[in-house]
Amino acid sequence: MQFFDLVRASDAAAAIAAGAESVTAQQGASVRFLAGGTTLVDLMKLGVERPERLIDINRLGLDGIHKQNDGSLFVGATARNSDLAHHPLVRAGYAALSQAILAGASTQLRNTATTAGNLLQRTRCMYFRDPASACNKRKPGSGCPAIAGANRMLAILGTSDACIATNPSDMAVAMLAYDTVVHVQGASGIRQIPLADFYVLPGQRPDIETVLVPGDLVTHVILPAPPAGERSVYLKLRDRASYEFALVSAAAAVTLSGGKIVSARFALGGVGARPWRVGDAERALIGAAPSEMAFRNAAESCLKGARPQSHNGFKVELAKRCIVHAFKQITS
Ligand SMILES: Cc1cc2nc3c(=O)[nH]c(=O)nc-3n(C[C@H](O)[C@H](O)[C@H](O)COP(=O)(O)OP(=O)(O)OC[C@H]3O[C@@H](n4cnc5c(N)ncnc54)[C@H](O)[C@@H]3O)c2cc1C
Ligand code: SF4
Repeated sequence: MQFFDLVRASDAAAAIAAGAESVTAQQGASVRFLAGGTTLVDLMKLGVERPERLIDINRLGLDGIHKQNDGSLFVGATARNSDLAHHPLVRAGYAALSQAILAGASTQLRNTATTAGNLLQRTRCMYFRDPASACNKRKPGSGCPAIAGANRMLAILGTSDACIATNPSDMAVAMLAYDTVVHVQGASGIRQIPLADFYVLPGQRPDIETVLVPGDLVTHVILPAPPAGERSVYLKLRDRASYEFALVSAAAAVTLSGGKIVSARFALGGVGARPWRVGDAERALIGAAPSEMAFRNAAESCLKGARPQSHNGFKVELAKRCIVHAFKQITS
């Protein structure tokens, strides 16, 4: 690991000003915010991230979790993943979020990891994590060995000829299904970014993963109040029962009235270059009676355009079954 400066920020403005001195907020950033450190420090040890300065944001008081007057849920950027997963408001109103967090990593990691850090974790593509390999995400223009190589875990949706990496976050999948909005304070002011617009598809620049610019500090996220009576679930399919990233996952939420679906929302993990949600697939469920066929049709629509690679074609059918099974669990 190279030498770096560690600064403990005591106010957000100073942290943002320091962050704004980086030329990029994406791969290769010279200044990084340090939250739980469970992604960043890992990548620094591997030589994948080489920031010159770390700004510790843990003393900025950004760790609150509370209900707002309009019924929405406020979650601070440095709220720990464990605190969020076990919070009574989350367990009662956002079950899929609690389950998604608890399906990830380990207890020890979740006790340290934070909301913003989780949303900004990096792909687990093995070539990205190995500086001896070429990788367009780590070094633009160097190539993508995963396309002809080990791609079993990688993405089938939203990929490009330059990168087929998967977004690995479980929490982001559930937050996407719940229409979460990310609040950012930056050098040019405050922005609210729907999570659906937060991640950028790889295209020819897979090193650019989000819309963040230097100095952008995620302060909190807001989850709108769920519809009354909504049931939700997070289903994660993986190679072993714990401490493993998703092959495929689904966060599904539904409201029923008179035997018909009145609201449905779902997002997929483990298959997309970013957490994946398709509005048309959800709308097709409205007014339908819950049935295997209705869920299967929605799943087909969601997976339209999938581009499997040599070793991950199984994800197409697995993802469809994951969606169907998740909806069956919350409608039967
Ligand atoms: C062995 C292992 C297994 C894991 N398994 C899973 C799993 O199954 N599912 C899953 O979803 N995750 C898994 N994870 C990932 C884990 O959830 C993330 O490492 C963690 O959530 C990152 O949070 P952090 O606070 O430690 O982030 P950090 O490492 O501190 O930061 C990550 C990135 O976010 C940036 N950042 C942090 N906070 C802010 C902010 N407020 N504003 C702007 N930028 C910010 C940092 O600069 C850095 O670039 C695993 C991790 C490990 C090590
Ligand atoms: S899939 Fe993306 S992250 Fe993996 S080697 Fe290719 S360019 Fe790098």
